[in-house]
Amino acid sequence: MRVEIVAVGTELLLGQIPDTNSQWLGEHLAANGIASQFHQHVGDNHQRIVLAFRTALARSDALIVCGGLGPTQDDITRAALAEVMNVPLDRDETIVEAIRAMFGARGRTMPENNLLQADVPRGASVIPQTRGTAPGLICSLGRKVIYAVPGVPYEMTDMFERAILPDLVARQRADGTTSVITSRVLRTWGASESGLAEAVGERFEALANDDRVTIAFLASGIEGIKVRLTARGDDHAHAAALLADEERRIRTLIVEKFGDIIFGVDGESMEDAIATRLKGRGLTLGLAESLTGGLIASRLVGVPGASAWFRGGVVSYASEVKFDLLHVPRGPVVSAEAAEAMATGARSVLGADIGLSVTGVAGPDEQDGQAPGTVFVGLSLGDRLEHTALRLPGDRPRIRAYSAISALDVLRRALDRDA
Ligand code: ATP
Ligand code: MG
Repeated sequence: MRVEIVAVGTELLLGQIPDTNSQWLGEHLAANGIASQFHQHVGDNHQRIVLAFRTALARSDALIVCGGLGPTQDDITRAALAEVMNVPLDRDETIVEAIRAMFGARGRTMPENNLLQADVPRGASVIPQTRGTAPGLICSLGRKVIYAVPGVPYEMTDMFERAILPDLVARQRADGTTSVITSRVLRTWGASESGLAEAVGERFEALANDDRVTIAFLASGIEGIKVRLTARGDDHAHAAALLADEERRIRTLIVEKFGDIIFGVDGESMEDAIATRLKGRGLTLGLAESLTGGLIASRLVGVPGASAWFRGGVVSYASEVKFDLLHVPRGPVVSAEAAEAMATGARSVLGADIGLSVTGVAGPDEQDGQAPGTVFVGLSLGDRLEHTALRLPGDRPRIRAYSAISALDVLRRALDRDA
């Protein structure tokens, strides 16, 4: 069963409102194992709406049309449906009464225009309105079907759940094509999108003609690259087995090329990954931050329950604070030695099991002859004291944000290595 979504409205083409309806529908169709292979946007123009419907009917089994069912002159979905079905529009008296009653209940008289909403293409059935004035429509065309619903998101979602989804599921059962779609996102940090694509290249090609399993890459800014695996099976167990098998293959390929860059799955953030590891081992963390100025602490405190494992952080921005409070030996403060001493200092001053530090040049100007993006992360963990030297790209905000997540990743890797 292939379902296509057609969102009607010139405002969508002009970029005046985002098409959240198609997004919501795509998500809910997928969650119910129904593929949607095309989404269209079309303006409030009769000929072009008809063309959009005909195009969709030629390649899909079912269409969900949202928008243009209202009472104004630019709401012309109904007439386009009638043309594609090759039937006249009949005024439905039950709907007329329902609309009248709705206006009556609000103590308002009904504008004549609203009667247009009672026009139904002959042969279509009605999805009664519960939230607005426009009813939805179910139009059968041979074995295919067009569902039309209002554009207003909360009317659309209500009709989808109440009428469209049950109808689609019944049609799939009748065809014997029910399926379940399940997906999982692998969160990676430290590899490029093209590097990852290369690592899993052979698998990607092997799946090119497989309509059960797909791989997609999603760049998410400084938060790394997401690798989304999706599997469609005959039932939940089948889909889960396909997904688990694919995940095993992809993890192996990624680890072979890049080592341990997968820090979590699905909605898990880098700080969640840290939280899980620290909590699991009963360890506490203290920070010394220079150029990040509290960004790392802020990310960690965003995790509920952080007080169980996060002691706190020192924003040792001025060199004197590094020397006096953290006992960093006097000398260049953007250096491996300073980073290590800051980690040691944070660990002891904050009474934590682990000390993590970051010092570097955020720019735009260089500092002590060091270029912007020069960053050192220090780590004091168990009896180990170590540093990682980084060269980070971008302007000041990016360098600071990258420094924060880089430092967290250094800690995550160290904890995994020790585990
Ligand atoms: P109404 O009965 O309210 O006129 P309608 O079926 O005619 O509904 P539209 O006029 O196309 O629908 O849209 C009504 C409102 O719903 C728009 O102003 C917009 O805020 C919202 N809307 C329409 N289409 C979408 C969409 N694809 N995604 C998100 N919101 C939408
Ligand atoms: Mg409208």
